[in-house]
Amino acid sequence: MKVLNELSENNLEIIKTEIKSDNLVIFPTETVYGIGANALSEDAVNKIFLVKERARNNPLIVHLKDKEEITKYAKVNNSVEQKLIDSFMPGPFTLILEKKDNIPTNVTANLDTVGIRIPINEIAHKFLEYVEVPIAAPSANISSRPSGTKVSDIKDEFDNLVDYIIDGGESKIGLESTVVKVIDNTPVILRPGFITKEDIENVVGNCLVSENVLKEIDDKSKAESPGMLYRHYAPKTKCLLVYSNDTNKLKELIESNLGDKTIILGSSKLSDTSCYKFINYGDTLEDISHNIFSLLRKCDTYDANLIIIEGVEKVGLGLAIMNRLIRTSNFNYQEILK
Ligand code: AMP
Ligand code: MG
Repeated sequence: MKVLNELSENNLEIIKTEIKSDNLVIFPTETVYGIGANALSEDAVNKIFLVKERARNNPLIVHLKDKEEITKYAKVNNSVEQKLIDSFMPGPFTLILEKKDNIPTNVTANLDTVGIRIPINEIAHKFLEYVEVPIAAPSANISSRPSGTKVSDIKDEFDNLVDYIIDGGESKIGLESTVVKVIDNTPVILRPGFITKEDIENVVGNCLVSENVLKEIDDKSKAESPGMLYRHYAPKTKCLLVYSNDTNKLKELIESNLGDKTIILGSSKLSDTSCYKFINYGDTLEDISHNIFSLLRKCDTYDANLIIIEGVEKVGLGLAIMNRLIRTSNFNYQEILK
């Protein structure tokens, strides 16, 4: 795999040729790195599923260069959808819209809707503008692994599978986009992200969060978003997620689960806990979001038996962090509320 450190005219030409030849290119966005293919080519899209080992019924998000492109590939059916587009695009926001026929069925896993996103990251924008086709792109990681937020974390994973990766440094946000579908004129968050329920309420007054965001789906036919069904974001080491809004209780919870070779991944208030290895994930929700996927990968390098991860309050960006961490730990979650 070749790492492209800048988008010179020459490199842009290389990438365009790759995309037009139905090959994959890994590129940076403000959320996480994406593994992209021409969204109008069924063959190119097939390669994403193969390389990522992704379930065929888990649809891909289509990335566009600007808002004018949306109606070429999808229908905006009501004023709520339009308001969300006007308010949150470009940005870390995916809107599920009725699809048009030019989007191949393997992109959307045979659904009649398509997820549309317009990244705000400058490199992503330049890439999308230059290749002149919409780009289907899931997160750049083998399915079930933590999403890629820097080149050094994912280079080996895709080394013989993808020829080019554009290096844009560390992903600013570090968690995938907020996925929203408007149902009966109300936005419903299918996957929480940096754009929060509160942000959406400020614009359209009302916003629901799918009940599956924080729990395991028992009736699989009820998943509004197929991605909810799969194990995600997981290091190889076993994980336990713990949360308390009382620091002493949190420490008790950790003590009672500490074993041989246990890593604690949490904020600085836990730094004095004696354990095999303490890893500080930051003290603000923004820092945690930015650091978490890369640190989960780092945890695997210590030959530990268990990672105890400190949870956060499930509001604002905290909801997105907990949505990921609950899946990281395979629903192995303990909380004590005061
Ligand atoms: P990823 O590609 O890894 O960022 O994951 C994309 C997420 O968007 C997954 O959870 C998908 O299930 C979800 N998604 C994509 N397209 C649709 C759609 N048409 N309807 C519902 N969810 C979707
Ligand atoms: Mg993903």
